[in-house]
Amino acid sequence: MKPPICIICYREFFEELDEDKGGLVYFQKRKSDEKWEDEMRKEGFVGHPPYAEWFCSNHYESAKELKTLTISEALDILREKDTE
Ligand SMILES: [Zn+2]
Repeated sequence: MKPPICIICYREFFEELDEDKGGLVYFQKRKSDEKWEDEMRKEGFVGHPPYAEWFCSNHYESAKELKTLTISEALDILREKDTE
């Protein structure tokens, strides 16, 4: 697993210590993500899924609302929102 650093604002946070928590959000899998999972399963590796990212408390709620999208679509929207 990657260390918990928000993919939008790059704020580092600690899940257990944060009062209002951020967290890991799993998005819709793309074709390449399914391929990644197959490879991992075959090799018996455990890694950070390419369709999951950390979000700090500021971005966690909006990220969760977009988890029916793929990670690339969701990040585009979140980053755009963030610059407003
Ligand atoms: Zn953030």
